[in-house]
Amino acid sequence: MDNHIRASIPLLITLIAACAARDPGDEDGAREEAPGGLGPSALSTGPIKGTSLPAQKLALTFDDGPGDRTSELSAYLKSRGIRATFFINGKNVPGRQNTLTALTSDGHLLANHTQNHPSLPSLTDAQIVSELDQTDVILAPLVPANRLLFRAPYFAWDSRVAGAIQASAMNKYVGPIDADIGSTLTATAAADWDCWNRNYTNARCGDLYLEEVAARGRGIVLMHDPYGSANGNTVDMVKYMVPKLEALGYTFARVDEVPAVAALLPPDPPPPSGGITIGLAESVDGYVSDVYRWRDASGRERSAAMVRNEAADPSGAFGGYLRRFTYVKANGAVVTATGGSGTNNTFPGWGYTVTHQTSEETNTISSRKQPGTRRIVFQGPHHALHEYRWTAQYLGGPVAITVHWLFATGRDNPLWSATFDSSASPPNAVYADNRSPSGQIGWDGDAGSVVAGVGWGDRYKFRTTSSPESFSSSWTYSAANKVPHVWMWSTQTDTEMGAVQTQDWQRRDAGYGWLYSNWGRTSSNKLITAGTPSSQTMPVSWNWTYQLNQFELPDNRNKRLAWGMNYGAIGQTSYPAYGDDRTLSGYPYQSHSVYMVMGAKTANTVTAQLTQVERTIAARLTATRGTVRTSGPGGVGRSDAVAFSPAGYDSVYGTWTIAANASSGVTMSLDTRSVSINRPMFRVTSYRLSVPATIKLGAATLTKDVDYFASLDTTTQTLWLTLNRAVTGVVTLTIN
Ligand SMILES: [Zn+2]
Repeated sequence: MDNHIRASIPLLITLIAACAARDPGDEDGAREEAPGGLGPSALSTGPIKGTSLPAQKLALTFDDGPGDRTSELSAYLKSRGIRATFFINGKNVPGRQNTLTALTSDGHLLANHTQNHPSLPSLTDAQIVSELDQTDVILAPLVPANRLLFRAPYFAWDSRVAGAIQASAMNKYVGPIDADIGSTLTATAAADWDCWNRNYTNARCGDLYLEEVAARGRGIVLMHDPYGSANGNTVDMVKYMVPKLEALGYTFARVDEVPAVAALLPPDPPPPSGGITIGLAESVDGYVSDVYRWRDASGRERSAAMVRNEAADPSGAFGGYLRRFTYVKANGAVVTATGGSGTNNTFPGWGYTVTHQTSEETNTISSRKQPGTRRIVFQGPHHALHEYRWTAQYLGGPVAITVHWLFATGRDNPLWSATFDSSASPPNAVYADNRSPSGQIGWDGDAGSVVAGVGWGDRYKFRTTSSPESFSSSWTYSAANKVPHVWMWSTQTDTEMGAVQTQDWQRRDAGYGWLYSNWGRTSSNKLITAGTPSSQTMPVSWNWTYQLNQFELPDNRNKRLAWGMNYGAIGQTSYPAYGDDRTLSGYPYQSHSVYMVMGAKTANTVTAQLTQVERTIAARLTATRGTVRTSGPGGVGRSDAVAFSPAGYDSVYGTWTIAANASSGVTMSLDTRSVSINRPMFRVTSYRLSVPATIKLGAATLTKDVDYFASLDTTTQTLWLTLNRAVTGVVTLTIN
């Protein structure tokens, strides 16, 4: 029935024998193995046992899953109030993503048991690290607070294996976790896999476990829930043992609660005390700004200084943009990004609006050139909306411009959303492109570093493939793309910045010009587009799909980043989509939203946001209580009803939107299509209670300000809710 265990048995016996020979089972000896002097989150040099647990405390562990009955076991343990630890082999996860979600929702801890269950001493250093790394990719997003534990297959371990892991990024794992009970089958002790190999019954094997538990009195218990035989099965054996253990007074803990393990784990990040704060009218180097401060996905503070737009600022502009952005990298380094100043960086910040009516600079409409108004639309503990408004006089008439910035606890990237409302002008009177959001900000930490490369996405992905960026950069434009985005990066400072749309190009087009004739091509077989010198690999500056720093090249230190939409996007009832194969309407409204992303290049923050949008718009929301909203305003500052696609997904704020029932209850299921979605955000409308009384994910009751972040907008009776975890599969959220 299980080929894996049968194939493994000869090796398993050998190695466990070796393990037993090395460690005679002296409980005090295990204490000496507890490592000292290692920093938090570092791999230990020797196996860690459970002898530091108090008497009558057991840490149940289950290896080699997930298996077909793991969800059943998870629910059983949950029903007894037991939290256990599951050491996962990544190779078993495909097709069982839902099992991992069930385990975490039931309060169990996922841990790393390698991808393929090899004996690590038989592998090269690189293979050893890869075995951990592959499973880490699956598990780490599901393990809160970096409580990352590792157990070596067959307990096979030596100093070279330890050194290989210690020298890699996988040294974030604590381990190897050993076991005190369940390692070897004898007349007085058990090992479930060996029981099943010998066709023991559940009772016979379970009684041996109970005997070993009684002899040890505490410890980490090793079992393998995927395995069984005709006479017995680990899941059934657990159901046999647990009531007996409870009757004897035993209680249970996860391995991360074993004191010797807990001492090696990083401390829990503090809950985001106070949530979002707004410093009103702070002077940021003379720029009068409302400064938003919030906790990001890592629990670290980010800040955004939003310059007021009623009066001229020190740059001679009128505000209405992000002047300064700060965040903290994983290594603790604080990155401060400041809007441009001086001759090379003429734009004082990022996120203002720019559109062109003709190629004449004098006909450019830029929100930084005129006064407007600002207000805080909504400030809850964990969600806040900042608004700028302007009425701009175009050649054909007035256009009302509204921009919102959304900040949320647990989210790294603010969302920028804009509407250009031409309804006060006749149809087709206004004729403009759209390069908003636009601006310059020192996303490399104000280092003045060279830009290593740029990229963007329309129907294809454009990426430079040589460094640094120049008009001679080689590039590829050959991979299909879903979600429009623009991106630039610096390898010198390990930083990057991008803007990632909340919707795909089929539903909301982006891109400007004629470079699309090169879709599917690279710089080596490109078609020369009009105006591009034949000596130049990159397109002529005015024909870039999104505006970057091309007008400043060869100065590739310039940090400009902006959007792209064709002429007519503002004001015209029909204008060409990028690709010139279909038409769209820019009248009376043109609205779009992008995440503003800054982070470490090596952390892949832009592609991570891109992936999250792709996964979100492929997901499905259904409800058994409450009503999934199928339409809503198509942009900020609008009150029309535009169909949501997919149902419930409001791309204006990137949220799932649902109307509560008459008693403000909601039961909804999000189907992520087997991939993980990080910290999904919901808006519950028609929500009449003061605070959510109870929020459950599956059967697990969530903890406010830890598992979720909620803000109630009493003006609009809207509950904003960010789930503070990654979800995979079909997850049901209940709000009462
Ligand atoms: Zn194993």
